[in-house]
Amino acid sequence: MPKNWGIKKIIDSLFGKEEAACAGHDCSKVAKNVFLALDGELSPEEEKTLLADVEKCPRCLEYFNIEKAFKQFLKERIARKTIDKGLVSSIKEQINNIQAQ
Ligand SMILES: [Zn+2]
Repeated sequence: MPKNWGIKKIIDSLFGKEEAACAGHDCSKVAKNVFLALDGELSPEEEKTLLADVEKCPRCLEYFNIEKAFKQFLKERIARKTIDKGLVSSIKEQINNIQAQ
């Protein structure tokens, strides 16, 4: 089937290109710097270099976006630390039930 062969070739060439784009740097090193950047521990100059690296590499870009989303999620969780009143009363109720037994 020539059609399937065509798709396979496209996939192969895409993956090949991705590997080539990553050859310029160490992706695990970039990933480590992504963590540091998200913690605000990189200098503006280092951050610039990191962003340039990430933009060059689809794999790093994907990783960076995942980490960014994850940090955002954590931030929101921390911000919402005020205790839910419904939760408190439900816990109190459970404690009362235990004591009543
Ligand atoms: Zn990379």
